[in-house]
Amino acid sequence: MKYVLVTGGVVSGLGKGVTASSIGVVLKACGLRVTSIKIDPYLNTDAGTMSPFEHGEVFVLDDGGEVDLDLGNYERFLDIKLTRDNNITTGKIYQYVLDKERRGDYLGKTVQVVPHITDAIQEWIERVAVIPVDGKEGPADVCVIELGGTIGDIESMPFIEALGQFSYHVGPGNFCLVHVSLVPVLNVVGEQKTKPTQHSVRGLRGLGLTPNILVCRSAKVLDENVKEKLLQFCHVPAANIITLNDVTNIWHIPLLLRDQKAHEAILKILNLQGVARQPKLEEWTDRAKLCDALHDPVRIAMVGKYTGLSDSYLSVWKVNMSSYQFMHTLMHEQALLHATVACHKKLVVDWVPSTDLEDDTAKEAPDAYKAAWNLLKGADGILVPGGFGDRGVQGKILAAKYARENNVPYLGICLGMQIAVIEFARSVMNLRDANSAEFDPDTRTPCVVFMPEGSKTHMGGTMRLGSRRTYFQVTDCKAAKLYGNVSYVDERHRHRYEVNPDMVPEFESAGLAFVGKDETGKRMEIIELPAHPYFVGVQFHPEFKSRPGQPSALFLGLIAASCGQLDALLQNPSHLSKPIPGRISSNGVFLPKVYQNGHQKGHTHMPAKSLVNGNYYSNANGVHV
Ligand code: GLN
Repeated sequence: MKYVLVTGGVVSGLGKGVTASSIGVVLKACGLRVTSIKIDPYLNTDAGTMSPFEHGEVFVLDDGGEVDLDLGNYERFLDIKLTRDNNITTGKIYQYVLDKERRGDYLGKTVQVVPHITDAIQEWIERVAVIPVDGKEGPADVCVIELGGTIGDIESMPFIEALGQFSYHVGPGNFCLVHVSLVPVLNVVGEQKTKPTQHSVRGLRGLGLTPNILVCRSAKVLDENVKEKLLQFCHVPAANIITLNDVTNIWHIPLLLRDQKAHEAILKILNLQGVARQPKLEEWTDRAKLCDALHDPVRIAMVGKYTGLSDSYLSVWKVNMSSYQFMHTLMHEQALLHATVACHKKLVVDWVPSTDLEDDTAKEAPDAYKAAWNLLKGADGILVPGGFGDRGVQGKILAAKYARENNVPYLGICLGMQIAVIEFARSVMNLRDANSAEFDPDTRTPCVVFMPEGSKTHMGGTMRLGSRRTYFQVTDCKAAKLYGNVSYVDERHRHRYEVNPDMVPEFESAGLAFVGKDETGKRMEIIELPAHPYFVGVQFHPEFKSRPGQPSALFLGLIAASCGQLDALLQNPSHLSKPIPGRISSNGVFLPKVYQNGHQKGHTHMPAKSLVNGNYYSNANGVHV
């Protein structure tokens, strides 16, 4: 096993995660099998209890692990499936060591950070690195380890010490340290400053780690004299200094690494030159160019709980399109983006704070109310994502009602499905006090109820987490068709409440179809309104398994319905996977034919390559859609 450790210096939020994932992509493109480990030096055992407003969303794995979003990056970029143990936190390590101590495994010794914590970290890495994650047997060739936080943080010290020891333990030729740093531009002349990087490399060396490769984040490409300075002061050869300048979309980042031969530098350090081939990145190149060239918008209103944060969410969305922060945006956006690119449209996400849609806001803040409704009414499709608690629920119900009554494509995820069920009960079935037991435990018409898989009395650990199977009940429904007419799908869950199974017959006779259920038939997994152009709700989270080249089936359905392509897609699923007609312009930009002069006529240039070699519409299970 070979290890690539990625550390970060100077400031947080440099895009260490996307850099580490992109390194994995390039190594994979060289024919190597790649796995990854993310180290989060915080004390929480996992991300499950952390507020999304503080830390960003929680990512859920097949095994039910609630982990850092970066694990989602690795899964999507490398098309792998990780385990909860691929996310190491200080909390997990201490818990492991303290459990051992309580069992008496340390035989009366004084238990210390060095060597007991540092040994536990190294053992953990070696144990997890060999778990196969790409569906093949046997361990991967390379494990990319990302150390969260910034060099110098107090809480990452035990990890730095452990990784220093680890580099000696695995020996030269098996360990490559990539340090991601920042080269800011301070004055009007645009001079690129190397001092922060110099300091950060010095800090790293002081802690016993020697960087092999420097990755410099900067707005523009590094000037030659700046590189010269870095190699003088940081003692890293010129070939091992890589610039990651701002790009228009994240899919360019592996290409930037490849263009600067970062893979050659890494392969040399890891003694893998003889084994690896030249990186094959055609799919990434095509997608990056296509994404730049798309400009016909599809507007999706995302109705959620953004109070006090809508601005920062907005700015994250804008920033991340031009830089490396992309990964910290919501999972839903990425799933939407994968589907939008598949439909050759440009994604526009309108954030609609659900509370702004409510009647109270009309009185208290009429401008916000008007703005929210204008966004909702201007949208081509509506997405209501998951959530917890009753804040903003009324606004989400209004959004579902609007979508249902006006034939606007709707996808409700987890809470978004429960909301749609409540709305249907209230408006269509006239059950005015229908509610979820989550929002009103004493409701007289509980159409969404607490249904733990384990104990009904014990509150802890009652969340239904991870991959569960959904069986299609009918073949003639949009969801089944979008999933490729398979009999079941495995998707990831994270919820406590579910549609009340006792009320299902009532709902069905009123016209709400439950087209997907679990193996017992008691848990409702997918709802649909058959007469509506696209009104789908799912108890699971399809966004977790969406991939750039394999959009999630139901997100693809939402986008296709929102831009008038759903019928064509359902009739002929291969419809959109044909080579995209277009040409590469003189400055290297892919121009799809359909966007030239706003119509399809008059194109005589050479056809572009297929975007995805015909497998664009597979879902994450590899099922052809
Ligand atoms: N709060 C709801 C539940 O626990 C929905 C959860 C979610 O949307 N992830 O069932």
